[in-house]
Parts: sequence; structure tokens; C-alpha cells
Amino acid sequence: MRKPAGLERLYVDFDSFFASAEQHLQPHLRGRPIGVIPVDSEHTGLIAVSREAKALGIKRGAGVRDVRRQFPDFIFVNARHERYVQLHRTIVEVIDAVVPVKAVCSIDEVVCALLPSEQAEGLALGRRVKDAIATRIGSTLTCSVGLGPNDLLAKIAAEMHKPDGLAAIRPGDLPGPLLSLELTDIPGIARGNAARLARAGITDMAALWRLQPKAMRRLWGSVEGERMWMGLHGYTIERPETRRRMFGHGRVLPADWRHLGGAYAAARALLVKASRRMRRAGFSARALALWLTDRSSAGWYGEERFAPTWDDPSLLTALSRLFHHAEREDMRRSRSVHVTLHDLVPLQDIEKDLFGYTAEAQLKHRMEELSAIADRLNARHGQTLLHWGPLVDIPGGYAGAKIAFNRIPDAEDF
Ligand SMILES: [Mg+2]
Repeated sequence: MRKPAGLERLYVDFDSFFASAEQHLQPHLRGRPIGVIPVDSEHTGLIAVSREAKALGIKRGAGVRDVRRQFPDFIFVNARHERYVQLHRTIVEVIDAVVPVKAVCSIDEVVCALLPSEQAEGLALGRRVKDAIATRIGSTLTCSVGLGPNDLLAKIAAEMHKPDGLAAIRPGDLPGPLLSLELTDIPGIARGNAARLARAGITDMAALWRLQPKAMRRLWGSVEGERMWMGLHGYTIERPETRRRMFGHGRVLPADWRHLGGAYAAARALLVKASRRMRRAGFSARALALWLTDRSSAGWYGEERFAPTWDDPSLLTALSRLFHHAEREDMRRSRSVHVTLHDLVPLQDIEKDLFGYTAEAQLKHRMEELSAIADRLNARHGQTLLHWGPLVDIPGGYAGAKIAFNRIPDAEDF
């Protein structure tokens, strides 16, 4: 833990990314109120709105039917995640040419670590990043840039003057600029958190600022509270980065597979493919996400979280639990299915469980060994010889990696 004296981080966050991406890609949409929808349905909500739509009072999450009733001419655009991922790659390249990107935080957010000479440039460096995006990509795709002593404060600075903002929070300014913010303006303080804080009498930033780290740890119920305290007070916490964010696969299902059983069989095959790639790259996952889509509804999204896991039997068990949830929540039909392994941990970083002498731990260890043997056999023979339970070939089209919200798919994910 360290307390930087300068602006060590530069954070870039694009404004209404999916909506401005569509306005960038389709010039006739520029200057008009538009909203991006995940599926073509009256029952879904907007995942992004253009600044012109925001000016009409339309917010992200608004229902398609309500918006159409109020604004009959409103333009709804179907999300095209593959295009956004392409644009994302270009953006990272352009920013990287001005100042090296340290980490990609989401499809429209990156953070850069600044050298002392770059820190001295201050806001001028932020302006150079914005100029590079405007000249090399276009002026429709605007971003907000924040500088700060650490990731959290740089991100808060980026959010202070959206859209097209540029701001710095300097260590010597603290807590000044933070005091005028709402608690929920702070990344990591969601409404649920804020309610818990309110019950403890913390209703504004001044009160939060006065808390001691231990008190924040108690309020958060985890070490995250202490991390939040350090972040707000200008300390940096170096956390190990994993280069990869996810391994995933998706498929459009053939017409006679569009029932839950068909989706399950396809998802098993996709998961086995994704987990094999993950193991080969040297990672284990702490989460498995399942996305089922259907033309007539917004689809179903579920996530299972667990201790770092990389063996097929455990991951397939987690998948079956997700399908049980989907079934209970009445998801009957599915047009396409997507699975992603994320929240990755490098295999060498997993602490060996010294007390793992339980029958369950031993079984898991054996499953891990079996997974490794299956991978070696399958690799040697160039085909799937060994697998867990029924495994099928899925006929038909290719869905591509459509879950582009928080994680950035690699080229192999399509
Ligand atoms: Mg954004």
C-alpha cells in the first residue's frame, strides 16, 4: 500500500457507448434520440440511450413499450455486440498509442498508469487522448477522461463531468471534490450498499469520509470496505491483474433444439470447449454465466460463483444448477445459448488447500487430474475421445459472443 503524490492514473470512460457507437457507425442516427435494445421485443429495456434521448428524460433501463407510447418516432436500434467489440479494439489501440493502457476495465472503460513525465502533463494528457480519438475514430464517439492518484479516484474524476468530461482529482484536493457527490456516485456503492450505510447513519460523503478503515470493513462486511477506504483516501492497492477476462462460446440453436433440453445439451458442449481453452491458457474460473435468448422475451441470464475451478465435472454441475434455475423461472424456449467462464485466476496463483483432506476435496482433486488427462488425450488425437456424460455436435448457425457488456471477448470467442 502506497500513497502517491501525483496523478498516477488516467481513466477513460466512453459516454453512452453502445448508443454513440451506433451513431458513429450509422451517420443518419447522429444528433437524434436513439436507444439500443438487446433483443427485438416490446418487453425489453434500453441498454444505452444517446445524449439526445437523455435530454428528453429517457434513461437507460426504460421499457421499450413506455418509450414508444411517449415518443412514437423514437428510434430503437438492435444491439450489435460484435461491432462494439471491434470498435473497442480500435479504441484501445488509439489510446495505447498516446499512453499505454494498463488494464481494460469493461468494453468502454480503460485505465492507464502514468510515468512521472506524463503525470506532469496533467489535464493536457487527457486532452491529447480525447483529440486522438476524435481524429482517428470520429467526433461522435466521445469519452470522459479522469486523472487521479489511483484507479478509483481517476474513475470518479471521469464521471464528474459527463459527457465529454475532463477532470483531475489531485491528492492535495482531498476530500474536496468528493464531498459534493452522492454516495451512489461512487463506483462500488450500489443502492443496496447505500441503504445499509443509511441504516448506520451514513447518508453523505462527508460522513463516509470521517469513517475509519475498520468501520468501513464492518459496514461492508468484507475487506472490500477497507479497500474502498484506501481508494477514497488516495492510496493505491496493487492487485494482480489477469490479462484474460473470459472464455466463452455461443450458438444459435437449430429449430428442433429450441427447448430447454436442447439448449442444455448445446450448453454442455460449449462449456466443455470453453473450459478446455481456459485450462490450456492456464486459468481457472470463479464464475460461470449462462445466457439464453428468445425472440419473444428478454431472455434469461444467470450466474454461478464458486471457488477457483477448472475441472469439467464441477463446471458441468454448476451449469446444471443454472438450468434448474432457468426451468424454475419458466424459461421454456431458447433461440440461442451462450456460456462464459469469467472472474479468472491464474492456475499458479491458486493456493493449495492444505486442509483439503475431506472426501469432497479429494474427489475434486481427482476430477482435476482426470480433466488434465482428458485434455492430453483429446489434444493428441485431435478430437474428443474422452468427455463427461452425453456430448453432442450442434448443427446449425453460429451465434458469436454476444455478452459484451462487462467482459470483452477475444477473437476466438466468436
Ligand atoms: Mg461508459
